[in-house]
Amino acid sequence: MRTGSGIGIGEGIAIGTIRVVRRSTLPTERRNVTDTQEELARFAKAQETAIAQLAQLSEKAMQEGSEENAAILEIHGMMLADEDYCDAITASITGEQVNAEYAVAVTGEAFAQRFAAMDDAYMQARATDIRDISDRLIACLSPEQAVQPQWDAPAILCADTLSPSETAALDSKHVLALVTAHGSAGSHTAILARNRGIPAILGVGEAFFSVMEDGQPAIVNAQTGECILHPDAQTLARTEQEREAQREKSARLDKLRGMENITKDGRKIDIFANIGSAGSIGEVLRHDAGGIGLFRSEFLYLEHSDYPSEETQFQVYKQVLERMNGRKVIIRTLDLGADKQCAYCNLPKEENPALGIRGIRLCLHRPALFRTQLRALYRASVHGRLGIMFPMIANVWELEEILAICAEVRAALKGEGIPICESTELGIMIETPAAALISGTLAPMVDFFSVGTNDLSQYTLACDRQNPEIARFFDEHHEAVLQLIAMAAQQAHRHGKWIGICGELAADVSLTETFLRMGIDELSVAPSAVLHLRETIRSLDLSQARA
Ligand code: PEP
Ligand code: MG
Repeated sequence: MRTGSGIGIGEGIAIGTIRVVRRSTLPTERRNVTDTQEELARFAKAQETAIAQLAQLSEKAMQEGSEENAAILEIHGMMLADEDYCDAITASITGEQVNAEYAVAVTGEAFAQRFAAMDDAYMQARATDIRDISDRLIACLSPEQAVQPQWDAPAILCADTLSPSETAALDSKHVLALVTAHGSAGSHTAILARNRGIPAILGVGEAFFSVMEDGQPAIVNAQTGECILHPDAQTLARTEQEREAQREKSARLDKLRGMENITKDGRKIDIFANIGSAGSIGEVLRHDAGGIGLFRSEFLYLEHSDYPSEETQFQVYKQVLERMNGRKVIIRTLDLGADKQCAYCNLPKEENPALGIRGIRLCLHRPALFRTQLRALYRASVHGRLGIMFPMIANVWELEEILAICAEVRAALKGEGIPICESTELGIMIETPAAALISGTLAPMVDFFSVGTNDLSQYTLACDRQNPEIARFFDEHHEAVLQLIAMAAQQAHRHGKWIGICGELAADVSLTETFLRMGIDELSVAPSAVLHLRETIRSLDLSQARA
């Protein structure tokens, strides 16, 4: 028996035999060419074919009901048409007089390395996407030599890496699970595997991957991130039991779709979902969330190579509101900075970025950036039930400035004859201890609060949420954190406002009763956590003294 561990994606457990894919490399050796026009024509044709292939795959994903997967493949199509990328390939072919395959390989790798060197984990994960589209282009340039991995399972598929488009093309009926030597949680491969319901472990490492062989019996537990080769009888029996319990749980939760989030003694609460892109709406609806409690709008900025325009943002917000069909959608304004860095924003290098120009501070520093987003949000407000939420508030004057800018934006739009929804709710995140402590002053100024427990814990405990070395000091159950949440809840209600929690703690069912007793009105969690939370709420009886 040998155990490897990596990043578990999804919740599934698979038991089966292994099928290892060791790919040969694509033909990218350098050839000098005299007719560069012919190479440019080959490149243009390959680009057209690759874009058509991706459109087809995206269509297939859409038919399977996975909009997020369709959106990822669509983005790959857009990346293939990206001007900077294509200009660099063209320049390489004409400037160096080389074959298109080589030009694509070298350019793709240079772009990928640029992404991999960025500070932000999200942007680093984009390196895989660049390599993927470049491989697709090369395969289209030399179709006769391209490697088409054969997924002839059912089996546990193991590979050094799997590109997003390979993952999207997998037949989930034949692939019990995926294990890769390399990969990160934020990669599109991870997102695609999760959305396709394929349990996966990414990044088990080169050493463990090298001992994997076709036909080996194995267990993949995506929940624990463990892959066990040659499991002994005892481990196998235990895992089979766990798998059965998991199946029973998901069948049980399935029955809760369409039911109310209500305690035994009749207290109702909203369960909303957290998302980072419009592509996740399918997942939100599938898990029966009552609305969106946190749309992290910064991902829209991180996905672009330049500031998304007012029109681009408007289209995304409108789409989200329309798809949610009258359910509440809370869109948080740009929360860049700290761990979310965006190259084109040119944020200054800071000693302590988590305490620096992040969240609302950036928006107040760059009001034009803020106004563009607010215009897009207010324009979209007539297409559904919008709430706008501001991150990282610590001062009353910040909120005064924000509200004044919002009023200006509303007046300007009305002056231009653009319709807006007058009842759009405005709220703030309670994610600094300062905001919780002055919540009695802030509450009358807004319509709602939403507690960001990730940052509230970080700032209350003076403990970097990103640093695994100090994980044991990052105690979100700390009495100080809970007292601050209780204080904000009390102040919100004293002023007739509602309060939710949208940090990770909202999904921690060991605290659900505590939150309900504090008077929390809404919990916003990852879509996949909605039904489990509903089950917990329905099992509580607040009329009874605490056990
Ligand atoms: C939080 O801080 O709890 C939160 C929800 O915001 P983010 O995790 O995006 O900082
Ligand atoms: Mg936060």
